[in-house]
Amino acid sequence: MFKFSKFASLSLNKCSKEVHTSSLLNALRFTQEHDELRKTVNKIIEKDINPYVDKWEEQRTYPNREVFKKFGDAGLLGITRSTKYGGLGLDYSFHVAFLEELSNVNCAAIPNSIMVQTDMTTPALERFGSEELKQEFLVPSHAGEMVSCIGVSENQGGSDVANIITKAERKGDELIINGGKMWTTNGVQGDWMCMLAITREGPPHKNKSLICVPLKLPGITCNKIQTMGNNCCDTTEIFFEDVRVPAKNIIGEEGMGFIYQMQQFQDERLALCMTACSAMARYIRDTADYCKERKAFGYPIIQNQAIQFTLAELQTEVEALKALLYCAVAKKMEGEDVTLLATMAKLKCGRLLREVTDKCLQFWGGMGYSSDTLISRALRDGRALSIAGGTDEIMLNIISKFMGLLPKSKPNASKC
Ligand SMILES: Cc1cc2nc3c(=O)[nH]c(=O)nc-3n(C[C@H](O)[C@H](O)[C@H](O)COP(=O)(O)OP(=O)(O)OC[C@H]3O[C@@H](n4cnc5c(N)ncnc54)[C@H](O)[C@@H]3O)c2cc1C
Repeated sequence: MFKFSKFASLSLNKCSKEVHTSSLLNALRFTQEHDELRKTVNKIIEKDINPYVDKWEEQRTYPNREVFKKFGDAGLLGITRSTKYGGLGLDYSFHVAFLEELSNVNCAAIPNSIMVQTDMTTPALERFGSEELKQEFLVPSHAGEMVSCIGVSENQGGSDVANIITKAERKGDELIINGGKMWTTNGVQGDWMCMLAITREGPPHKNKSLICVPLKLPGITCNKIQTMGNNCCDTTEIFFEDVRVPAKNIIGEEGMGFIYQMQQFQDERLALCMTACSAMARYIRDTADYCKERKAFGYPIIQNQAIQFTLAELQTEVEALKALLYCAVAKKMEGEDVTLLATMAKLKCGRLLREVTDKCLQFWGGMGYSSDTLISRALRDGRALSIAGGTDEIMLNIISKFMGLLPKSKPNASKC
């Protein structure tokens, strides 16, 4: 019996119906068990999250740990992870179902914050971490008892990952960390950071390590950054001055951090896209409903062909993106490298999200411009997707590299 089944008897009706329209359904083999998992996710969202989202957005914070604990108790923060480490031991298609249902949260900040834990800080730890590190950081993260954050971007640049400057110098059995991380989601409430830092001399792709850094240590300070959207999750600048952590906190092999992080980015990008793709379907659906109700010139505005065609076109784009994503998922489940597909999906998803939220908002008229409507929050939150997790330009750079378009002599950031 799965852990999530304890909620299965409770009635819910917000499962993502669009999932069932994809021709790639068979590759993913969604079953009744996936539906049960979807219901469990939605139960938590409806009871423990959505009633409070407006308040949390206004307060510009939300109780990370309390929310994570709800998902952790249902086993949802480690769906694909080994039961030995508190996971559910299920295949990635169940995680896809989870990510899709996260789109029912009434803001993007909380799904993003959760995905930091499930798809950004823990994949490398699970793949390469020592038994001791897994017990200390992975198990409590799966349980929702610890909040994690990912420290890659820095003040002087986020796209050029190879040239970050934060150092973790080895002194005996310890690492002494000096530097800073920027734009860190979950930074204020985080218990530990999966940090990319320079740990030794050598070329930029071989001199860095991923390190589990507890955040309640002397020498660590942080500032919350005010952002245009994603208001209720922390976006943070964190400084490290002579911070000491055990050298055994390095994940896997020393010097492999850059490579591990490039792999970890693929989990991050797929997850972000999966939730955003379902969210877009939701915005289109909600906008169509509004247009059926709203009247102008004596009839519902949905009767204008311009509106019908715009929504129909957006829906088509969303289905095309979903097909690309499911293709990537099917390949990932077969153990193939999905860097190119994940990169293409991230590029397309960031751009489409901007288009969907902007065009849908237009049909809400003045209501759309009001801060109170979800569509205006979606537009503000969604703008980040073309930046966070790698910008559109960096995605284009990677795709160009795969296509063999980069001149060999020109330096660029395509290795991200
Ligand atoms: C809401 C939010 C949350 C985030 N959360 C995290 C987090 O939790 N952890 C973390 O580590 N980071 C996080 N980030 C940081 C994010 O990953 C970076 O902002 C992103 O990688 C871009 O880096 P940058 O902001 O330094 O921009 P820069 O690297 O300075 O780039 C500025 C502009 O130049 C363009 N550019 C750069 N190089 C090239 C090139 N070779 N060709 C063409 N154009 C180029 C970029 O595309 C961009 O448009 C977050 C960002 C946001 C907005």
